[in-house]
Amino acid sequence: MAFVNTLACAQDLDARDPLRNFRDEFHFPQHEGREVIYFTGNSLGLQPKAAADALKQEMDDWARLGVEGHFHAKHPWYSYHEELTASSARLVGAKEAEVVVMNQLTSNLHFLLVSFYRPTGKRVKILTEKRPFPSDTYAFASQIAFHGLDPANTLVEMQPREGEHILRPEDIIARINELGDELALVCFGGVNFLTGQAFDIKGITAAAHRVGAFAGFDLAHAAGNLDLKLHDDGPDFACWCSYKYLNSGPGGVAGAFVHERHLSADLPRFAGWWGHDKKERFKMERDFKPMPTAEAWQVSNAPVLPMAVHRVALEQFDRAGIERLRAKSVQLTGYLRWTIEGISAENIGMFNIITPKESAMSGAQLSILVRGDGRGVFERLTARGVYCDWREPDVLRMAPVPMYNSFEDVWRFGQALRAAITG
Ligand SMILES: *Cc1c(COP(=O)(O)O)cnc(C)c1O
Repeated sequence: MAFVNTLACAQDLDARDPLRNFRDEFHFPQHEGREVIYFTGNSLGLQPKAAADALKQEMDDWARLGVEGHFHAKHPWYSYHEELTASSARLVGAKEAEVVVMNQLTSNLHFLLVSFYRPTGKRVKILTEKRPFPSDTYAFASQIAFHGLDPANTLVEMQPREGEHILRPEDIIARINELGDELALVCFGGVNFLTGQAFDIKGITAAAHRVGAFAGFDLAHAAGNLDLKLHDDGPDFACWCSYKYLNSGPGGVAGAFVHERHLSADLPRFAGWWGHDKKERFKMERDFKPMPTAEAWQVSNAPVLPMAVHRVALEQFDRAGIERLRAKSVQLTGYLRWTIEGISAENIGMFNIITPKESAMSGAQLSILVRGDGRGVFERLTARGVYCDWREPDVLRMAPVPMYNSFEDVWRFGQALRAAITG
């Protein structure tokens, strides 16, 4: 695909984009009377216009029906989470029995670690990436301490080679082999939030399994971004949030995956009534009888209000299709990369894109190291109505989201970036 730095080229790409109409289904924040260039959908996705009505439906049903809404609401609350299962399974490439929408992300990570981090003998270590999202580090370290072990020598954090920014896939496999029978769990992100590096779920899982360890993934930055194949790739568990690429609102309800091979196994877990076999749930019996699906990990009844928003957002993913979104994303991110590289070349190599170029190693995010006054560039972009994200000391992150960003957004971004450099 050859790009040309003109508005006409961007508009031509938009005209040929089969997903272009989805943009109109979202509310965009405004800046001086026009839509901002929103490249922070990896942090908080935009609001689907249909979300407010979905939420109102539940509020109206609650007003109208009170407790009867559990069974007689338009979308009965008792089984509300079940309405999200099929779409979630399609989105992450899982069987329906393997997914459940519940809680929030870090809570789900904890509940899954209860089942899949069970240090025994010398097999105690958790391998993760250096600087995953801090919440994950807190979860790992506190789980290790909960088992009476010392995180300082039990949590192994892999960092890139000296002078590099990205973990080489072969180094990850080598580290797994080296830790061998000391390794209890490998838990990586699907996409690293800082560098935008996507990890090879299948390869890491296979390597972990070869040495007898479990493999889990935090898909916060991968769900709704990559075309995931969780069942076939075979990790033991995964979890994700819904408010980043999944556009389901701040603090939205999260998702979890447990591979089929564990569904009938007698794993330890922290149980609650919504994990009990639903046929007998209201017998309110004393002994816990788990659901034969990922729902066994559910603790509490479904949070209907955030789920109403999530239902609308997932329905959009069903219509758009993750394969088509991913195909657009590769092109859109490629166009952004080309634009930034061009501007960098005009400015004596001011930007260094650290996100890998290979589409198998990246999603809809570019992270760039900025030489010089990066913070100033970021602030001037914001003042021009461009939303991207700054991480001290020198990383600028932007996410062109295929669901609602356009090629014209990328072109306008390039114009704004040129202007922001010169002040
Ligand atoms: C966004 C994010 C979180 C946030 O966790 P919450 O429990 O949803 O607040 C955790 N981990 C990763 C990897 C993230 O990207």
